[in-house]
Amino acid sequence: MKVRMRRLRASKVIRDSLQMNPLRKEQFIYPLFVMEGNDKAVPITTLPGISRQTPDRIVKEVEYCLNLGITKFLLFGISSKKDPKGEAAADPNGMVPKTLSLLKKEFDDSIVLFSDVCLCPYTTHGHCGVPDEKGKIQNDASLPLLAKAALTHAESGSDWVAPSDMMDFRVKVIREKLDDAGFSDVGILSYSVKFASNYYGPFREAAGSSPQFGDRSTYQMDYRDSRQAVREVLLDEMEGADAVMVKPALAYLDIIAEVRRNTLLPLAAYNVSGEYAMVKFGAKAGVFDEKKITLENLIAIARAGADWIITYHAKEVLEWGLP
Ligand SMILES: [Zn+2]
Repeated sequence: MKVRMRRLRASKVIRDSLQMNPLRKEQFIYPLFVMEGNDKAVPITTLPGISRQTPDRIVKEVEYCLNLGITKFLLFGISSKKDPKGEAAADPNGMVPKTLSLLKKEFDDSIVLFSDVCLCPYTTHGHCGVPDEKGKIQNDASLPLLAKAALTHAESGSDWVAPSDMMDFRVKVIREKLDDAGFSDVGILSYSVKFASNYYGPFREAAGSSPQFGDRSTYQMDYRDSRQAVREVLLDEMEGADAVMVKPALAYLDIIAEVRRNTLLPLAAYNVSGEYAMVKFGAKAGVFDEKKITLENLIAIARAGADWIITYHAKEVLEWGLP
């Protein structure tokens, strides 16, 4: 008896019948960059096809995306107001709170809004926490500021806050803050497993959030150690996270699979800016077919075990049409 694997690949019909991870549009979360002003969009050169936009433009963008079938969005703020503590992260008149309330007023429950909670877009030094006089990022002193920012987002209509700072205990502190203020329905999507990665370059251009001294390696994870990923997830789960995230995605498919095996929480994977840029610039140079490589990447992320995929490709993939 000879086992011939090719019998299972003999025709498109048989291949289609055996596909295990057809990508669904419901999995996508589309990131949006909100900037100050009116009726403006500024393209991000290292993220072709993606712009920073003013709140009114974001409303139009969301309407367009909703027609394509994208129902979930992740908001990032860009701020000219910066100080050492990042106080503007909790400013109720900031761009993210403003946009959250505009979007909820317009689209209500037909969309789910996630809002990134961090200090780095609002700190003069660009770090995600508050440094001491020697420049060391203080964990516990940063927590009340993060919780305050999360509460401001909840008050403005955020359905899910997404802390990305990687301080210890921030999920617990944010959960308590939200519950005490009556926002027990607001979820927490924790950036539980966020590596100090070289794939974030274009995002930093987009958000203007590069650290002005040192790097983020004392709070973001070291990619040479995969064991801490599961520990981070289990701790966030105990602290009250409703869903967890692995970031980046493509160079971290092993981590996504490992986290999938170790938690029953919904799992998001962030297909980050550098991963997107590689596809765009590679395709432009004729290295590969853009549509095909994009689908292959997104299906790989789903196959690894991600429920939700945060990706800059979401809009174009649905414009092209899912297979
Ligand atoms: Zn940050």
